[in-house]
Amino acid sequence: MKEDEIEKIMKKVFKKEYAYLETYKTVIEEKNLSPTELLDKYTQLLEAYRMLLQDAVKITKIGDINQKKLFEVNEDLEQQKQILYQTSITDALTNVFNRAYIMGVLEAEFAKSKRYQSTFSCILIDIDDFKAVNDNYGHLVGDAVLVKTTSIIKKQLRVVDSFGRYGGEEFLIVLPATKAQEALLVAEKLREKIAEMEFIEKGHKISISISQGISDSLTDDLQSQDDLLYKVDTALYQAKKNGKNCSVIYKNIE
Ligand code: GH3
Ligand code: MG
Ligand code: MG
Repeated sequence: MKEDEIEKIMKKVFKKEYAYLETYKTVIEEKNLSPTELLDKYTQLLEAYRMLLQDAVKITKIGDINQKKLFEVNEDLEQQKQILYQTSITDALTNVFNRAYIMGVLEAEFAKSKRYQSTFSCILIDIDDFKAVNDNYGHLVGDAVLVKTTSIIKKQLRVVDSFGRYGGEEFLIVLPATKAQEALLVAEKLREKIAEMEFIEKGHKISISISQGISDSLTDDLQSQDDLLYKVDTALYQAKKNGKNCSVIYKNIE
């Protein structure tokens, strides 16, 4: 935009202010004014100046209000972004991490263990005979049992451990800086907690148990996190074969 165009716009917007400026110019250029006329002009100019100050205060206040509003809108957006992010990584029923997120955690932990030669463990949990819970008491009761089971498990874990829903009634725990033997202790604690629980849903007393497959990242034969998943899955299969309600470490079955 050219300078004279800008000036045109400014003169339109600040019509009143430009008029005051004109008066000021005439007053200082006018040599023949009597003291009374001069006093009159100066009084007018002082009044104009006072009004300008009032306008300036108003404009500053509007600016402050707008800045506050902008800040609030920004905070709102930040909050919504956070909620959206949480929703995108959370399983809607159980409120633990969803499959995509827990797989991401596993991938990151695997990369870290390769880079720093560190050890971590995985526990794959499967609820025993869960189909029977649905068949006997209905799907809604099954859902409620799933929610309560996950909440019990979550309470037992350390903050550094990540816990996610791997599939229907299957869950995956990633335990950083943990060897398989230590993960077994965690798994057994979880298994005992769940086994001693009596869920009361819609007047029914329901007991369940879990089977678990465990492996750590200590072996050299792991090419990717999928190899570790294969191991915990195989160990879980073995736990089911052993009669369920037990925990099995992969290396024990080779
Ligand atoms: P196993 O001891 O061999 O694991 O037997 P199971 O009955 O647990 O295994 P199966 O794979 O035959 O059945 C899993 C059941 O879990 C079947 C499916 O209906 C149920 N299930 C999966 N997701 C949900 C869910 O979100 N809510 C409910 N209520 N049930 C679910
Ligand atoms: Mg299953
Ligand atoms: Mg099952």
